[in-house]
Amino acid sequence: MTINLPEARRWPGSEWIKNHPAALERIYAVSVKAFTRVYPAMKKIAPQSSERVMVFVEAVGKGYVWNCQMCGQCILHSTGMTCPMNCPKNLRNGPCGGVRANGHCEVIPERMCVWVQAWERSQAMAVYGHKIVTLQPPVNRALKNTSSWINMVEGTDQITPPGWAAASPTGNEGLEHR
Ligand code: SF4
Repeated sequence: MTINLPEARRWPGSEWIKNHPAALERIYAVSVKAFTRVYPAMKKIAPQSSERVMVFVEAVGKGYVWNCQMCGQCILHSTGMTCPMNCPKNLRNGPCGGVRANGHCEVIPERMCVWVQAWERSQAMAVYGHKIVTLQPPVNRALKNTSSWINMVEGTDQITPPGWAAASPTGNEGLEHR
């Protein structure tokens, strides 16, 4: 029996949400603008609490929709609103060469390849869909369990290993919205 598990964990309604990437990218664009404006005040008033609140919000909110692994460098808008950290190989650039003919994962055959889903969803995204071809640098494991939103505004998620800076930023073009 084949179980069509699109991603590692599916909460009720989360697949329906992810399958509306055009709406998600619009929400993302508005949220980036809003958070970029609000964060400086949050940081000034209560920097540690701001981090704790955002970590909680992301862990719960993005955990529910995307099974977020709290990598701290969110690139959802560059990956078809599909979390690449749900790939069993944690590939930030995919798919690998092992995608099955039916679009399923070679590691977990019951599951759709995260990157096949990412590509398909990106095709419905008018604003950020083209970012699916952005070359992503290696994920910075030091940022795990930190707030990707704060890292985005602070620019922490833009720091790349030597040799990568000139090739490509993280693809987290949220800063463009400032
Ligand atoms: S890319 Fe990182 S921060 Fe974004 S949903 Fe996936 S694990 Fe969470």
